[in-house]
Amino acid sequence: MTQIDKSFLPDTSLDHAVNLLREVPMAQENLPHSFPERGIGEIQTLDLLAPHVLGRAARLDNSNALTHMDPPTPWITWAMALWNARLNQNLLHPATAPFAIEAEKKVMDWLAPVFGMNGGHMCSGSTIANLTALWAARDVKGIEKIVASKAAHISIEKAAKILGLPYEQISTNSHGQIDSDKINDISNACLVLTAGTTATGVIDSLALTGKAKWTHVDAAWAGPLRLSPNHAHLLDGIDAADSVAISAHKWFFQPKDSALIMFRDTDLANSAISLGGGYLATPNIGVQGSRGASAIPLLATMIAWGKEGIADRIDHAMSMANMLATELIKEDNISLWAMPTTGITVFRPLTMNTEEFYQRLPEGMFSTCMLDNVKWLRSVAANPLADIEEITSKISEVIHGTIA
Ligand SMILES: *Cc1c(COP(=O)(O)O)cnc(C)c1O
Repeated sequence: MTQIDKSFLPDTSLDHAVNLLREVPMAQENLPHSFPERGIGEIQTLDLLAPHVLGRAARLDNSNALTHMDPPTPWITWAMALWNARLNQNLLHPATAPFAIEAEKKVMDWLAPVFGMNGGHMCSGSTIANLTALWAARDVKGIEKIVASKAAHISIEKAAKILGLPYEQISTNSHGQIDSDKINDISNACLVLTAGTTATGVIDSLALTGKAKWTHVDAAWAGPLRLSPNHAHLLDGIDAADSVAISAHKWFFQPKDSALIMFRDTDLANSAISLGGGYLATPNIGVQGSRGASAIPLLATMIAWGKEGIADRIDHAMSMANMLATELIKEDNISLWAMPTTGITVFRPLTMNTEEFYQRLPEGMFSTCMLDNVKWLRSVAANPLADIEEITSKISEVIHGTIA
């Protein structure tokens, strides 16, 4: 076969894939039952899959979507994801990814100082970012245990298990923060503080930063607040951390998989988490081996929007959460867990069962969480296109059993 295989070229049929994004066909045909013997070709595959892939996903940009930490993504990131897929650069091999490496360095140079860090690298999510930080803490400082609040993300417990370190969970105070009175000796510990707990969005007291042998701040959710002049103060104290994790696929509006692990002393951290190999030109830093150029969509977003554009969107999300909470306070039949601190509003009905209330609301509007064995509704302001008026009128419609 001397013909060039066109499946690997930028065929004009690719335009069809982009056009399908604008107008998703409704009619669904069944997928093949088994692995087809002969392929149906690219164009037919696009037409077959579009109603499934594009039509059968929860729309995170719906006006009533306020459910999870997964944001809708700006189209500039779709373009970059497509370019990335076309080149398939590997951050593991500098020779294949000269620009991708430069892009990641730029993203780090621009973002790390915002958190008092001096560098780091990207990875697939904060689960990996947290593991990487705790690995560095163990092997740089010889920490003997990991301490976090019981509201910390499960990835901290996972990391403790993987690293073979004891995990101490501290109860929370009345604000949902780690209860500092309950913290014992942490002179040989890594203290993990959460900036934006997953259930309620609470920020642990960052005044505790620097009190343990290593302090890691899990800012998976709330880290981007540091870029907003109006909200940066909520993360005051973070600069004294030894490491900071942020999921860029949460409040930086990035497509998955995109996260940052940053260190105060990156050379020192890297000395513990880098391994050479005969087949590698440079040592492999961190947990992952091959990894894609997730810095490129993030860099594009940072250049396209600027600091101001990112801050505006974060501020808008914060005000949406505030608006929602302010409306909920007015409802006698609803209990608000607390005013939201990082865009997460938690509440429950007082006149009906939470689950029943949840079931009556549109799918994809809220999620639920358990706090001290009580079920609450949870909303996360990750969707800049949410319509709070529409959402609050739906809530009052359900709570009063009438159209508001
Ligand atoms: C989401 C989250 C994580 C895990 O991040 P992934 O990107 O899902 O791996 C860790 N910690 C907190 C506080 C989170 O909200």
